Amino acid sequence: MVEKLTKNFFLYLSKSKVLNKGAKRWGLRLGASQVVAGVSIESVIKSVKELNDKGLVCTVDHLGEFVFKKEEAVQATTVCVDTLEAISEAGVKCNLSVKLTQLGLDIDKRLCLDNMNRILDTARRTNNFVRIDMEDYTHYHQTLEMLKELRRKYNNVGTVIQAYLYSAKDDLEKLKGIPLRLVKGAYKESAKVAFQDKKKIDANYMKIIKQHLLTGSYTAIATHDHRIIEQVKEFCHQNNIPRNQFEFQMLYGFRKELQEEIARQGYTMRVYVPFGKDWYGYFMRRLAERPQNVSFALKGFLSR
Ligand code: FAD
Repeated sequence: MVEKLTKNFFLYLSKSKVLNKGAKRWGLRLGASQVVAGVSIESVIKSVKELNDKGLVCTVDHLGEFVFKKEEAVQATTVCVDTLEAISEAGVKCNLSVKLTQLGLDIDKRLCLDNMNRILDTARRTNNFVRIDMEDYTHYHQTLEMLKELRRKYNNVGTVIQAYLYSAKDDLEKLKGIPLRLVKGAYKESAKVAFQDKKKIDANYMKIIKQHLLTGSYTAIATHDHRIIEQVKEFCHQNNIPRNQFEFQMLYGFRKELQEEIARQGYTMRVYVPFGKDWYGYFMRRLAERPQNVSFALKGFLSR
């Protein structure tokens, strides 16, 4: 009950445009630096190098929320392009994650598509891969449509499917062969479209992981849940699914020891490394997921 209230409270805060705007001016505060790798491309590349040295591969994400102006979307696209160039120049093992709303989805679909083309052209030239993060349900179908359109031209792009959605299984069926990240789901969605019960979400999560793996498609299992990770390892072992057909993913700053242990066991372990001034909404969603994460915020607040 308390956990649910805390979750809803932080999800509510994550949507505050006023606090989001203020946070951009504050710099990384409230302990956010433990889960966000700085505000510049240089700082994120430095973190990626450190993670690579520990046997972990990465995906970086330039944080950005509430983009409603064309210039902001174009500017965010330029940062993505520059990030891909910096990854290539540094020779680090790292791909890119993007959010379509940051690239103009809420402004004009054509603009968003043009921006994705710019990013994917750079990724193709630098031999890299781009993952479209999945946002809240209001953007779900548009994201899948955009992916379909982009896949006609590029094979270096994939997206994310959220296990809390009732439609996950059916949607996955249409995405056979496409590299997908599978997650439980981070947003507050209505009972009309999503499971609300944690056990049901976990059960559906395992179901869709098995489903995508069995089609031979490359699957990224993005979770901090050690029980799910163990079940996936066991399932792949029993079904002769090769280790180069899947990877585990976790967020920067979370369960670092487990991340390294998984890499030591010979699995691909990718760390999702966010950076940028617009850290507030991302940080609030992480606090919502796990009330224990609030200790990050409290420690950070006290050490200001
Ligand atoms: P939870 O259900 O939060 O936790 C399950 C159990 O795992 C806990 O009970 C606990 O025992 C253990 N555990 C979890 N965290 C910790 C910890 N920090 N320390 C110790 N034990 C812990 N969501 C989206 O909607 N769209 C996306 O595009 C998206 N991309 C993601 C990318 C990555 C790389 C990751 C890791 C997550 C992403 N998410 C995304 C978020 C995801 O949907 C979940 O909200 C988030 O991962 C929390 O769920 P979980 O699977 O980690 O486990």
